[in-house]
Amino acid sequence: MKYLFSNLALLRQRLERYPKILLFLDYDGTLVPIRKRPSLAILSPLRRQLLERLTQNPRLFLCIVTGRSLIDIQSIIAIKSISYIANHGLEISLGRRYWVHPQALRLKPHLREILSRLRRATMHIKGVLLEDKGLTLSVHYRNVTGISSEEIETVVKSIVNHYKEKFIMTCGKKVYDIRPNINWDKGRGLLKLTQLLDKKGTFKIYIGDDRTDEDAFRVMGKEDFAIRVGYKRNSLASYYLKDPKEGVSLLQHLTTILA
Ligand SMILES: [Mg+2]
Repeated sequence: MKYLFSNLALLRQRLERYPKILLFLDYDGTLVPIRKRPSLAILSPLRRQLLERLTQNPRLFLCIVTGRSLIDIQSIIAIKSISYIANHGLEISLGRRYWVHPQALRLKPHLREILSRLRRATMHIKGVLLEDKGLTLSVHYRNVTGISSEEIETVVKSIVNHYKEKFIMTCGKKVYDIRPNINWDKGRGLLKLTQLLDKKGTFKIYIGDDRTDEDAFRVMGKEDFAIRVGYKRNSLASYYLKDPKEGVSLLQHLTTILA
């Protein structure tokens, strides 16, 4: 991985060569630092302004990519002209268009069952937070005390195992995600969006910080810029930034370069 700010010249070159740019931004850990509870990770007025400026640029198409539900992320960002790939790629909002993975939709009743089982099984665990995202579930354990993450993993796994043909469990930063067992992720969501947009040969920039973003890094083209927030040796991204603050400076840079 190369440090992005030592390779800005190459990025500038690409931006000059391609007339249109697709900019994909992860939210938690990328646009905002990760907080104790997801509801505390709010977008500062400065960052919202920056996003607004980016959406006004005619060369740029901006899309927020997140594991959060579409409703959740839309209410946080609250900018009309932004597109979203939400719920780990299962929901896409593109202007007035809405796309949802049909299989994920069919599995919803089973997910409700898992949720009520999880509620019962984690009632006694202090600090655990269950997040119902409609098509997926998240079990946050950042604030858990008195019980190890392995023990929580065992509890969650034992429930998900009953539905193993239908659902899988993946790990993020202090979170277990329960997602439909279908071949789908942020990367597939990204490809689906470019297909809906009919913008296949466009230059892409993706900035993300977590394991689920690796799926998106994987589908990036040779010339595209896959950027990870935080250095990680085996990441599929070619570039890294040190922290979310540097992500913001990169966005500021983009507004000037593209002005
Ligand atoms: Mg993230």
